[in-house]
Amino acid sequence: MSEVSSKELYEFKKTLKELSEKKGRGTELVSVYIPHDRQISDVAKHMREELSQSANIKSKQTKKNVQSAIEVIVQRLRLFPKPPEKGLVLFVGMIPKGGPGTEKMETYVFEPPEPIQTYTYHCNSEFFLEPLQHMMDVKEVYGLAVIDRKEATIASLKGKRVDIIKHLTSGVPGKHKAGGQSQRRFDRLIDLAAHEFKKRIGEYMNDAFLSIEDLKGIILGGPGHTKEEFLKGDYLQYELKNKVITTIDTSYTGEFGIREVIDKSMDVLEEIDVMQEKQLVQKFLKELIDERGLAAYGEEEVRNYLQMGAVDILLISEDLTHKRKTMRCLNCAHETKVTYKDPHDDDEIVCNGCGDRMKVHDVKDLVDDFVKMAEEVDSDIEIISTETEEGMQLFKAFGGIAAILRYRV
Ligand code: ZN
Repeated sequence: MSEVSSKELYEFKKTLKELSEKKGRGTELVSVYIPHDRQISDVAKHMREELSQSANIKSKQTKKNVQSAIEVIVQRLRLFPKPPEKGLVLFVGMIPKGGPGTEKMETYVFEPPEPIQTYTYHCNSEFFLEPLQHMMDVKEVYGLAVIDRKEATIASLKGKRVDIIKHLTSGVPGKHKAGGQSQRRFDRLIDLAAHEFKKRIGEYMNDAFLSIEDLKGIILGGPGHTKEEFLKGDYLQYELKNKVITTIDTSYTGEFGIREVIDKSMDVLEEIDVMQEKQLVQKFLKELIDERGLAAYGEEEVRNYLQMGAVDILLISEDLTHKRKTMRCLNCAHETKVTYKDPHDDDEIVCNGCGDRMKVHDVKDLVDDFVKMAEEVDSDIEIISTETEEGMQLFKAFGGIAAILRYRV
């Protein structure tokens, strides 16, 4: 996982989680998904229709809240001459903070991490998050190719989306069609044609896959041995060859073959993510055992190394819920930062400048605090789940914060 995708994914997951916890009193939370190619004026027109539709809502309060939400959306849309590249999502609604009468209008407008496919307007007691949740599955791209003597199909897999990039046919005749020609000469021609075909496949794959920025791996499939011969030969560029994860025997070629490869390699793909997390934690543990190893752990130690710019890779548990609070003195405005394990802990502390009381001035997730520090010094950031034994160990035994260092101090 690259540094960006791990962090972006984390941020996105966090936003989704926050949004999923918001509930309206009635069916009055509005979600709008706008694809890139949708005209803003069309959406505004639709909003006006929804606004007049909402006159039929029975509950007076719900009606008022839906109408306010739509009006906010119309206002926000005016800021966009057209939707951004990946489209636009808007979540608007009155969210209760406590008992009745505590509702506040909340507005979320952003460009999602993946393109929006369909225009959606949704009004319910919760925000409609499904399309965004689907995008979360999409983080890496795999290159796929199904090859046999006669044809080859090259495709990419991004989340659940398959794009067929190229279909090639060899024109290599079957071996039995020797006819009147001398068998040896004919075999030689066939071998030559087969070689040329593999060369062509390689060229197309190099072309298609080298330009994919975050290509996670390549899987080759197909009936027979052509895929193995292809891999053994010098058809694929060195860098891509190293990315080949596995070869898979299929019954079909073409698009059906691609589908077959995906079905048969699902488990392999899931394991790769898990494997990478495991490997990173294992690397950290190995450094830790070594007396002169490059490992650090615990909030304070890792923070110190980060501030020195000595962290190569920051490992941080996804499940860490600690809060970093900035406390400010009510009297002299002196500030200090404190980490709270329980997010609801609001202990007042005493100012060491004047002895007066200090109150919470700002609250941040501890994970965000570390991610920000790591970004400032260009450390790699890996957010580790607790789905593996190693991830659990990082969380429980090392407080969820560890680092592999660039150097020791
Ligand atoms: Zn003070």
